[in-house]
Amino acid sequence: MKTIEENIRDVEAKIAAACERVGRDPSEVTLIAVTKTVKPETAQLAVDAGIQNVGENRVQEYRNKRENLDPQINVHFIGQLQRNKVKYIVSDVACIHSVDRLSLAQEISRRAQGANVSVRVLIQVGFDDDENRGGVAPAELPALARQIEDMPGLELCGLMCVAPVDADAQQTRAVFRQLRVLRDELSQMLGRKLEHLSMGMSGDYEMAVEEGATFVRVGTTIFGARV
Ligand SMILES: *Cc1c(COP(=O)(O)O)cnc(C)c1O
Repeated sequence: MKTIEENIRDVEAKIAAACERVGRDPSEVTLIAVTKTVKPETAQLAVDAGIQNVGENRVQEYRNKRENLDPQINVHFIGQLQRNKVKYIVSDVACIHSVDRLSLAQEISRRAQGANVSVRVLIQVGFDDDENRGGVAPAELPALARQIEDMPGLELCGLMCVAPVDADAQQTRAVFRQLRVLRDELSQMLGRKLEHLSMGMSGDYEMAVEEGATFVRVGTTIFGARV
């Protein structure tokens, strides 16, 4: 079995190769090691191997990693977020990837102002009809983006998606491409470039990089299957 460090080196090499194929600079792509369900000691091994960004999808685990990892490490929130839990992450989160509704954005804005911080957020876009997985419908994205753009304490940095579970490779690539088009259209609408595209997980991050991802969120390939 390979070590966590070897797994990370493999993922980095594949990101670099994907960049090479499409003429991108690998420094544009940030690898987020998804540490959900992984013990802080194990997450620390990834940090020792050079990981600077980790991702969590539950508030309690987020706090656990925050308290056990170096404060310099960026901890991203990538899961569905309830409004009443925003207060637990707002002051030290690197970026919230999963903003998908106005009420959530308003609460982040309110708490960010209270904590005197500016919170980087991505809007999660949903490309399937499964509401449980979160994400705003593409048709509703421009209105939500405009509202978030005007909210104090929020810094809109781009878009995030999770490919539909049942999508094949071709459909997944189409989804990534669509997210990029939406990002470019929004940038036009807002009159400034939205930098980030958070897309790609263990099964599809190379394709996501080919399609323009700036954040890839990789768990299983680094830490092994979650139990
Ligand atoms: C769990 C999770 C990931 C990582 O998935 P892997 O397939 O283990 O790489 C990425 N993004 C989100 C939103 C997740 O919940």
